[in-house]
Amino acid sequence: MSEKLFTPGPVEIPARVLQALGQRPPHHRSESFRALYGDVSVRLARLFDTQGVAVILAASGTGGLESAVVSLVRRGERVLVGSSGKFGERWSKILSAYGHAHEVVKAEYGKPVDPAAWAVAVARLQPGIVFFTHSETSTGTLNDARALAASARQAGALVVADCVTSLGVHALRQDEDQIDVAVGGSQKGLMLPPGLAVLGVGARALERLESATAAGPSFYLDLAKAAASARQSDTPFTPAVSLVLALDESLRMIEEIGIQEVWRRHAALARAIREGAGAAGYRLFSSAPADSVTALLPPDGVDPSAVVKHVRSMHHLVLTGGQDSLKGKIVRVGHMGLAYGPEDAVLVSRALEDAAMTLGATGRSGSAAEVAQRALESAT
Ligand SMILES: *Cc1c(COP(=O)(O)O)cnc(C)c1O
Repeated sequence: MSEKLFTPGPVEIPARVLQALGQRPPHHRSESFRALYGDVSVRLARLFDTQGVAVILAASGTGGLESAVVSLVRRGERVLVGSSGKFGERWSKILSAYGHAHEVVKAEYGKPVDPAAWAVAVARLQPGIVFFTHSETSTGTLNDARALAASARQAGALVVADCVTSLGVHALRQDEDQIDVAVGGSQKGLMLPPGLAVLGVGARALERLESATAAGPSFYLDLAKAAASARQSDTPFTPAVSLVLALDESLRMIEEIGIQEVWRRHAALARAIREGAGAAGYRLFSSAPADSVTALLPPDGVDPSAVVKHVRSMHHLVLTGGQDSLKGKIVRVGHMGLAYGPEDAVLVSRALEDAAMTLGATGRSGSAAEVAQRALESAT
């Protein structure tokens, strides 16, 4: 029996996208590819909801984060990071790698960055640029991007957000949310294989990139160069042609359904999984659960790693555990993209319940699938 991925990325790829990947790739300097590329970047900018430019890099999501740091941070500038998990810490690590001193507003794992504490730090530090994570994949936590961006903008800072697991999942309106650069990755809500980093670069960020005092040095990751090319429906270097063809298809899937409906579906599915898991005796790890990934604490006495193993071998659903300090402490269920339907909430809930019972949880059983089903019905 084939397995289905419920991982925090890469995610399950819809058949239509797989098919698009199998096309014979045109030459990247051909007229037809340039036309397609221009069209895809415009539609990607629309997905970010920015009047700026969408940049596509052949890189994993982290390449997109790094390109924002290397292209935007000015030497000696005051920098603030909001961190609520492993991906928040990644901003810190990248900044440190380039020798940029910075302060961090830290939230405990499982909690979002406190907008009030953040606003206080912003007011004190008066940063020139800030970085945070919208959906913190390591803990399944949604940060209030709007609130964090608003206070940073009020202080005049440039706002950069890791939206890798919120793009195409959570309500994101880049310009309205006052995010100057939003970073996405192909293998999450865009439901593609790994290999692309995408960036929504808003007007204020473009201004900074074009100014003489921009950061650097950088070469491949130079966002100014990539953005200037993107405006000409072009790329400075060879793009990942096949992945762009697939992105064309995944954007089409999102456009056919409509982005608001895509967000609503993610919310409904995530809620049903949370409720189903709850009925099976699991507790939410996060106080602000995201709709991209659900992080769960199994019932007392049940080992999270054993749950992952059981669900894979008996139910053919691939979940993951925690990373680093959360290893062996949580179970994570990913549900990003349109390869997941309402029926998956029932499947996952049933599997989680079976795992809990088999692995020694005490308490009632047999209601998780039903609870998930009811949650789905009440959502429509
Ligand atoms: C997956 C992910 C990334 C990018 O990771 P890569 O392995 O470099 O693609 C960045 N931020 C978040 C929040 C993610 O979930």
